[in-house]
Amino acid sequence: MTSKLLWVSFILAALILSVTFSLQPDQQKVLLVSFDGFRWDYLYRVPTPHFHYVMKYGVHVKQVTNIFITKTYPNHYTLVTGLFAENHGIVANDMFDPILNKSFSLDNMTIYDSEFWEEATPIWITNQRAGHSSGAAMWPGTDVKIHNSFPTHYMPYNESVSFEDRVAKIIEWFTSKEPINLGLLYWEDPDDMGHNVGPESPLMGPVISDIDNKLGYLIQMLKKAKLWNVLNLIITSDHGMTQCSEERIIELDEYLDKDHYVLIDQSPVAAILPKEGKFDEVYEALAHAHPNLTVYKREELPERWHYKYNRRIQPIIAVADDGWYILQNKSDNFLLGNHGYDNALADMHPVFLAHGPAFRKNFTQEAMSSTDLYPLLCHLLNITGMSHNGSFRNVQDLLRSTSPGALPPTPGPTLLHGSVKPGDDESEESYAYFLGVSLGSILVIVFFVIFIKHLIRSQIPALPDVQAEIAQPLLQA
Ligand SMILES: [Zn+2]
Repeated sequence: MTSKLLWVSFILAALILSVTFSLQPDQQKVLLVSFDGFRWDYLYRVPTPHFHYVMKYGVHVKQVTNIFITKTYPNHYTLVTGLFAENHGIVANDMFDPILNKSFSLDNMTIYDSEFWEEATPIWITNQRAGHSSGAAMWPGTDVKIHNSFPTHYMPYNESVSFEDRVAKIIEWFTSKEPINLGLLYWEDPDDMGHNVGPESPLMGPVISDIDNKLGYLIQMLKKAKLWNVLNLIITSDHGMTQCSEERIIELDEYLDKDHYVLIDQSPVAAILPKEGKFDEVYEALAHAHPNLTVYKREELPERWHYKYNRRIQPIIAVADDGWYILQNKSDNFLLGNHGYDNALADMHPVFLAHGPAFRKNFTQEAMSSTDLYPLLCHLLNITGMSHNGSFRNVQDLLRSTSPGALPPTPGPTLLHGSVKPGDDESEESYAYFLGVSLGSILVIVFFVIFIKHLIRSQIPALPDVQAEIAQPLLQA
């Protein structure tokens, strides 16, 4: 009888504990999503109910200052390293490294050379070194071998793979027997269409609606897989987009002899490598060539761009004003939308939303830097990050609680403050959680008491027999 009671008590105690812990959200699952070229204000161009659903039940940062140059590869690498381009080494989509004597080009797909990526260590590698697993669906750089590693699971880049198939892989990895805790998901639009038609075109409306539907599909699939409430979803992008025009073209051939330099990267930041002995000639010819073109010697680039101290940054950098386009000559490819401009321009800024157990609800913050995402990710994954240029303090207000994640080393630039103070929603949330756990516990205790009473009563009729059995030998004796 006593041992039965002990066993029942033990099972019930285990039950109570498991119920309590299953109610505790897992703060360590993170899915980072990038919709390439999703400008921060696309949210308001057409109805975007799924983006607004995430904002209502999660957090929203209005202005994210990304890094210069505001191009795809430099910014995607910043999101996963927390470093400025001069520190992570992916300084452009098209680069030349004079020491390696090698080129890196998105157009020629010569991006798989590990050496270009190894000035930094992306978060999937640090996550795996901490004993976790990562999965990447086409995120730039995740199919490149970096420091002898790939993500635990990844999809080799293939733009023809549908969004639905990418989501299916991510869900499969999060729900497998050895689940990932970090997922990275990338989609090419609205960047592609933004380039083709220009961001101010009415044709962008359906494109933004389509992205909103894709987000809706992702939410639906996460709910179906029972991941929606246990996973921290971060939706962001690498850059925005600005409207260009054939009326605003700067043609280098008008000012420079093309035999005197190599154009490593084109528009809107022309990376110019003068041929031997031609530096002064090229610089002087270009310096005052056009009122909408600012020309810098590498060492004179503004400090705020953090775009100077890397050998892959070319000796002369010419930056076009917002909406202006640099071409070597007019036979080169021109696009109606472009990005890459000064990262102080709002049109270059990406969207930023997040939802999940770690994040507050219906909370808006004015500003952050894209370098701040990295320490946030390290905190959520509970890993110690590498050195970076971000600040965890800039993003900690987004969180319901700042414990117990490990804080990576933070050089700590100027603090930015959220416009909204810690709100009532968080306390409401905590109250509901406390109430739920309390009621659950009371119910379990009541059940336990009734069960024990029932057990004791059901044992009573058996007692005489037991006594009889015990008494038997005595009688025999
Ligand atoms: Zn991009």
